[in-house]
Amino acid sequence: MPLPKTIALIAHDEKKDEMAEFARRNEAALMACRIFATGTTGGRVQAACPELDVTPLKSGPLGGDQQIGALIATGEVDMLIFFVDPLTAMPHDVDVKALMRLAIVYDIPMALNLATAELLVAGG
Ligand code: PGA
Repeated sequence: MPLPKTIALIAHDEKKDEMAEFARRNEAALMACRIFATGTTGGRVQAACPELDVTPLKSGPLGGDQQIGALIATGEVDMLIFFVDPLTAMPHDVDVKALMRLAIVYDIPMALNLATAELLVAGG
């Protein structure tokens, strides 16, 4: 099954290398998608895979998570891949929770770690 048309990518700082590697490994599958990403994550993914169609939004702590939440609410994002760092306190923790909540409300596939993201990309 093909991947959904539009995917959002976010990675907390300790997970950005993992996200860049994930994107490189799955570049062929992601090539068919439009990608929205929070600012720094988007920059890292674009640097790792210059061929991908990445639209970077604001950095997460500056509102990027909320922008992605708004895109989910308006039906413009079909899948969320969010590599969460479980070991670091985040100043924008409320935004992170709100974003996950919207992914549940709108029932879009959401991966919060690498193992699930690989399954989603493999399964479409
Ligand atoms: P960033 O934001 O990609 O701009 O670092 C991610 C986040 O911390 O939510």
